[in-house]
Amino acid sequence: MSFETLGLGPNILRSIEESGYSEPTPIQKSSIPLIIEGKDLIGIAQTGTGKTAAFTLPMLQRLDGEVPQDGRRRTRALVLSPTRELVVQIHDNVASYAKHVPLEVADVYGGVGEGPQKKALRNGVDLVIATPGRLMDLMDQGCADFSGLNFFVLDEADRMLDMGFLPNIRKIVKSLPKQRQTLLFSATLSKEIEKLTREFQHSPKLIEIGKRSNPADTVDQLLYEIPKAGKVHLLKHLLEDNEMYSVLVFTRTKYGADRVAKQLGRSGVETGAIHSNRTQNQRARALQNFKDGKLRVLVATDIAARGIDVEGITHVVNFDFPPHPEDYVHRIGRTGRAQANGVAINFITDEDRVALRTLERFIRRSIPRKTPIGFDLKSLPKSTVHKKVRDNDFRAPHSKKTNFRGQGGGRGQRNRPGPRHSGR
Ligand code: AMP
Repeated sequence: MSFETLGLGPNILRSIEESGYSEPTPIQKSSIPLIIEGKDLIGIAQTGTGKTAAFTLPMLQRLDGEVPQDGRRRTRALVLSPTRELVVQIHDNVASYAKHVPLEVADVYGGVGEGPQKKALRNGVDLVIATPGRLMDLMDQGCADFSGLNFFVLDEADRMLDMGFLPNIRKIVKSLPKQRQTLLFSATLSKEIEKLTREFQHSPKLIEIGKRSNPADTVDQLLYEIPKAGKVHLLKHLLEDNEMYSVLVFTRTKYGADRVAKQLGRSGVETGAIHSNRTQNQRARALQNFKDGKLRVLVATDIAARGIDVEGITHVVNFDFPPHPEDYVHRIGRTGRAQANGVAINFITDEDRVALRTLERFIRRSIPRKTPIGFDLKSLPKSTVHKKVRDNDFRAPHSKKTNFRGQGGGRGQRNRPGPRHSGR
């Protein structure tokens, strides 16, 4: 099936051709004709399936066809997305698909000055792409007029709920015209999402395709049992392996992300950090440098990493193990995106035992425990590692006999030669 058969006009088809897409992805095949028909839609799809183009292309088609009668631009379409990075990503998509459609687009998100966003909204734009918090702020100040809106997209709806955006979303939707087309995209169809669709949509069609296989089935996973104080040292040690050339590291806190990035940077590893305390410019720059290969390592918290679509991440490192299995699956899904050639490395401390057990039940497999070859905690300076650890008394999960030096190995046992980490 080609894009020509989906009902898109010549201006949009031209941009698609210039983007180099030869055929629509499954979600695009199913949803584009329905959206052009004017139907409400629930799309169950994840980032990476082509879902942004699935709603952007028909949206642009609609916007291209309607010329404002009085010559004044009115906002006719609104896309809500959970993070600033996703807003920018959607805007990038719009920019490449709308090359031949004269449109004014405004991005609205927090972490940057309100001035230019207010000005853009007041001047009149055809399309607004926004995070709910900042948009609500600007709406409260009377900057946005959605009275002419007829197209509304709620992207990554499940993450929006996780992030506590529902009250803002409700308020925003209340101010939109009742007569409109509403598209809702979510990675999962939970009870909460069903409730939301009943609230916001009118007889929506459900499309559930483009599901990638569960990364827990396709990404090579392994774990190292390591006391907290040894984590940075182990990470530096693993990074001596050049095969780890594009590495996303997850920490639990913003402070932790900065600290790890600083420590890696000091030892000569090009590292950036993204989390919600960074300015938008800092986040965008770090992400771009990581995408371009200028940064070998990007350290992120979960919130900042939501939906980030970076090709070619070779390794995900759970520097801090996530407490929730859903976050684990989401994190490790950042690697091995095209083929199943990613590696997920987990640092497990004593405190992570319960979360690890819960995860292994959730993914129905046990994650192989590995011994870091050539890494000796005892050789670290006394100040960095707690005495108990230096005395090799760290107990691994599931095994009272196992200690950090090796599975079932005794005190002072030499590490066996072999790959530093498996799965490659
Ligand atoms: P998304 O799921 O929207 O994040 O898209 C994932 C990636 O697929 C993006 O880099 C898009 O540029 C790309 N993409 C979207 N549609 C197509 C298509 N029909 N053919 C090839 N690549 C596509």
